Amino acid sequence: MEQMKTILMSTLTLALLTLGQVVGAQVKRHEKPVKSIPPKAAHLDSRPSVFDYLDSLERINRYNFHEAFATGFYTKNGTEYRAATGEPGPKYWQNRVDYNLDVSLDEEQNEIIGTSIMTYTNNSPQVMEFLWMQLDQNLFKMDSRGSSIIPLSGSRNGSKGQIGNLGFKIKSVTLFSGSKKKNLIPLKFIITDTRMQVFLKDHLDANGGKLMLKIEYSFISPEYGSDRMGILTTKNGKIFSVAQWYPRMCVFDEVSGWNTLPYTGPGEFYLEYGDFDIRITAPARSIVVCSGELQNPQEVYTVEQQKRWKKAAVSEQTVVIRDVTEVNDPNSRPLGKPRLTWHYKIANARDASWSASASFVVDAAKINLPSGKLSIATSAYPSESIVDQGWQKSTQMVKRSIEHYSSKWFEYPYPAAVNVASRVAGMEYPGIVFCSAFAAGGGLWNVADHELGHNWFPMIVGSNERLYGWMDEGFNTFINTISTANYENGQYKRNVLNMHEQSAMLSMEGTPPIMTAPGNMAEGSISILNYYKPSVGLILLREQILGPDRFDRAFQTYIKRWAFKHPTPDDFFRTMENVSGENLEWFWRGWYLNNWQMNISVMPVHYIDNDPLKGALITIENTKQLPMPVILQIRTKSGKSERIRLPVEIWQRDFTCTFKYPSTEQILSVTYDPDKVLPDSYEKDNIWESKK
Ligand SMILES: [Zn+2]
Repeated sequence: MEQMKTILMSTLTLALLTLGQVVGAQVKRHEKPVKSIPPKAAHLDSRPSVFDYLDSLERINRYNFHEAFATGFYTKNGTEYRAATGEPGPKYWQNRVDYNLDVSLDEEQNEIIGTSIMTYTNNSPQVMEFLWMQLDQNLFKMDSRGSSIIPLSGSRNGSKGQIGNLGFKIKSVTLFSGSKKKNLIPLKFIITDTRMQVFLKDHLDANGGKLMLKIEYSFISPEYGSDRMGILTTKNGKIFSVAQWYPRMCVFDEVSGWNTLPYTGPGEFYLEYGDFDIRITAPARSIVVCSGELQNPQEVYTVEQQKRWKKAAVSEQTVVIRDVTEVNDPNSRPLGKPRLTWHYKIANARDASWSASASFVVDAAKINLPSGKLSIATSAYPSESIVDQGWQKSTQMVKRSIEHYSSKWFEYPYPAAVNVASRVAGMEYPGIVFCSAFAAGGGLWNVADHELGHNWFPMIVGSNERLYGWMDEGFNTFINTISTANYENGQYKRNVLNMHEQSAMLSMEGTPPIMTAPGNMAEGSISILNYYKPSVGLILLREQILGPDRFDRAFQTYIKRWAFKHPTPDDFFRTMENVSGENLEWFWRGWYLNNWQMNISVMPVHYIDNDPLKGALITIENTKQLPMPVILQIRTKSGKSERIRLPVEIWQRDFTCTFKYPSTEQILSVTYDPDKVLPDSYEKDNIWESKK
């Protein structure tokens, strides 16, 4: 989804410093240190005494280095399903659902009536006697669990109090049986809130057992559907943004068995992969766009429009398929039939969505993929969206966004990418996104780039959004910063944020950690804990801790390993550590599992024998619980300025660190984190200046 506070979608500059750029500095533990606890100095280089022991207790009380760097971060060892390296193990399995969906849109009643035929493959080692499915539309029933917890006003979830006959109506659930799968046997089912349990007559075999179910259903689309679907009325007709529109299989995995958490609004989705074959029947005056590739353009577009599509498929420039002057022209639609059926297919996807409207202007251009394959960028929008820097620019944005993510992280796998002007502020589905019809300029780029970025998280890398929103929104917000910095020479690049100022918001006292389910945090915290803070975490990891080369390789490996699969947080943490070769448990623990703050103080500088020519002893102290590598700037009397980096290991066994700096003249100042790229919570103690 779109993050509501756009100010938070920060871009940090690429650090000027590269890792390991330690200039002329050495950490020296045996020089006579200058410390703020006097007894310690007296005992250096001597045998441990009771004073040392008491001193070490005081050190632990000030900043608990044992807690920060304790071993045993992972509560589970690697398994044959999920390896200790963070990759899928040799026995990794996941189930599969292939959907054949055939629906009809009633534009007057806002009703979708359809049939789903699903082929479910049970690759698990467990025999199944029942199945669980998500009935997400039931969120909008007056008596749903979500309705009871969504505030009456001020929330983006729910249906904004729409009273009506909302929710799924399940007409039948039947099983294809017999050797030729010709017989249909009715199955018993129980609906509990947004879930449906379907009881099999017999069982479903383990290790590859298959069954086919048929479900007849309908629902009335809410006008506003938790900001993820809904209806926008324009002067030339309604725009239907249709999602959560068919009963979806719950994921069955070796982590939780059936994942049956209800849909209450804030937590998004966790879905199985499969192929989709979709038929949507709508009034002939409407244009229907959908995830995947249109199979029957000759039936739903005019001869002239089919020519334009062919031109767009190989064009760098946007080609208009139906322009604004043609919208109300009957000749801009095939004549002769009151209703048309649009046939789309998308393979290897965890979901599919669509949109229909008589108001649509449509344009398209080709997308160049790294392998040489092509995809196609498409936009569908009403005439109201054509304003200065408006939706007529969308297709080029779609093209550039998909091309960037494909070359940087993982090639886009789908035959098309569609941006639909919608009532929804911003919402993602495989191969199709819904963005506000009223966005323009930088706002349109930001929302489109964000929603399209979701094709990578969670559409390609299929994590459990309902539990781990940060693996979806946070990872996506992070890749958006790089995409936006690259788009049109950084035209919409956001200002570099001062991390010292941001630290208060990032690690606010009393807020839960990132590792909190979206449904378990205040709605106002979501933009920070799901989007902003996890994104800043990856920026810190990339630019300050690992360096871009090592980070990018590890992150690309994570995407490749878990493409079209179901990673957990440990699979991510382990992959990042194993590929980069760095123990990062301290960082996961402090930034993701806890809400720890950091603060580093620069202490008074002393010279050896009081002589700047003999070198200086510089001491820094860590006064809060989150350790972090150190960047110092040292200015000397002749006007020289030097940067020094110290590794995070200096905080492994002490809260204080003294190192020798080979000064040859008086030091004027020592500044911690001069570029303000680390989330230091108290800036006043970041600088030491010599008395004049
Ligand atoms: Zn999002």
